[in-house]
Amino acid sequence: MTAKTNPGRYTPLIILSLVAALVTALALWATDRATLDPGGNEAANTQGTVAEGDKFHWKIVTTWPKNFPGLGAAAENFATMVDQMSNGRLIAKVYGAGEIVPAFEVFDAVSQGVADAGHGAAYYWKGKVPSSVFFTAVPFGMNAQEMNGWLTRGGGLELYREAYAPFNLVPMVGGSTGTQMAGWFNKEINSVEDLKGLKMRIPGLAGEVFTKVGGISVRIPGGELYTSLQTGIIDAAEWVGPYNDLAFGLYEVADYYYYPGWHEPGAMLEFIVNKQSLEALPADLQAIVAIATQASNQLMLDDFTARNNEALRQLVDVHGVKLRRLPDDVLIALAAASEEAIQELVTKDPLSAKVYASYKSFYDGVRAYHHISEQAYINSRDVAIDAQK
Ligand code: CA
Repeated sequence: MTAKTNPGRYTPLIILSLVAALVTALALWATDRATLDPGGNEAANTQGTVAEGDKFHWKIVTTWPKNFPGLGAAAENFATMVDQMSNGRLIAKVYGAGEIVPAFEVFDAVSQGVADAGHGAAYYWKGKVPSSVFFTAVPFGMNAQEMNGWLTRGGGLELYREAYAPFNLVPMVGGSTGTQMAGWFNKEINSVEDLKGLKMRIPGLAGEVFTKVGGISVRIPGGELYTSLQTGIIDAAEWVGPYNDLAFGLYEVADYYYYPGWHEPGAMLEFIVNKQSLEALPADLQAIVAIATQASNQLMLDDFTARNNEALRQLVDVHGVKLRRLPDDVLIALAAASEEAIQELVTKDPLSAKVYASYKSFYDGVRAYHHISEQAYINSRDVAIDAQK
């Protein structure tokens, strides 16, 4: 039966649809007025977000100490950029760990709208989102350049959004440290035996890997690392690399500094944005937010690239830090344990399986090409330049 043969049956539906469309149009118009009219006197557009005239004020909470170099600069850079690009229409105030919420409550605070956005690392939330570890660092996995390629051009970001959608969060790229250092130890590591019973601050998948080779992984925010090492709560710690580790003064509480950063070969940081806070912004400000996260992402990697070398020189030459390379048999044992940890995770969590399938496929391809491009070049430039000496 069609509407033509029995119009009476459909008329109430048509009227209802028209009324609904009118209500929606009025609501959109009212929102636009509230958002765009400088004289508007709109109410708070969402939890934690207050729009005042045509301006939006965001709170950004971070897992880093306030004004911490490198990692902590990302949210500050983002705030400066959105202010400049929006001509002052989006003002973001950055809060360090503990100012509004402690470091490890950033995810919940943004999810619930206590803050509009957050900056931290996805693997801190592996208890809530097991697949989050793949968006920060995979032991023996991709470096910064490769991670950026996977996330922004290889389908990674879409999966990241899928993983965070149930939490009312939109994740965006938040910077990379580049390849990290393996960490700080108070004794030499000559074999896997030396890791047994060692209490180490090492988060993410690597924490589970460390447990598999006989160590004990401890989860501690950066701001507590120095005291934890000093008081013996932990025996060892990985943090980032020379630039950030120097800033924390870790050389004062540990003697040996090990490389390479097998556990975090290109650790990615993240911005997380409350979905309502993002959607409350007009389209141009939403675009500015997205572009500012991308620019901030690149700036962080540039920052570490520019500063790590001088920081390492200071650590070794001024502070007498003993620089060591992890032996190959230790790295091989850690790689075997990494594979085991990944397989366990993908077996018990379907989304992790989906994310890892994408990660692995991208990694296999990029690794094959980088073998004869980036890696071949870095090896050959050492050979060729050193031959001139
Ligand atoms: Ca780290």
